[in-house]
Amino acid sequence: MTPRTHSGRASGHIRGTNRQRETDSSQSARLPPKTSVVPTLADRVERLERQHRRLANTVAALARHAGISVGPPCTACGDCYLLFEHGRLRCPACGRVEIP
Ligand SMILES: [Zn+2]
Repeated sequence: MTPRTHSGRASGHIRGTNRQRETDSSQSARLPPKTSVVPTLADRVERLERQHRRLANTVAALARHAGISVGPPCTACGDCYLLFEHGRLRCPACGRVEIP
């Protein structure tokens, strides 16, 4: 006595539900068209950030390979990060040594 409902064949057109709504251009309406060959400030910042990330990753990999670690920036000269090696922090730029 199980109630059985007669299930007819559902149409196979249900799964195509990914609607991609066109974004309104309300926010980007004020952006000028990209016709200039001169890189914008945003382009330059993005390029420098990418370059910085690559360099930071490379320095971290080199430090790991050498068995040292990169510490905070040197407070004496500010030109370099301190390197933690043999139980002490050393600035490769000014030579300042700190024992934590
Ligand atoms: Zn220094």
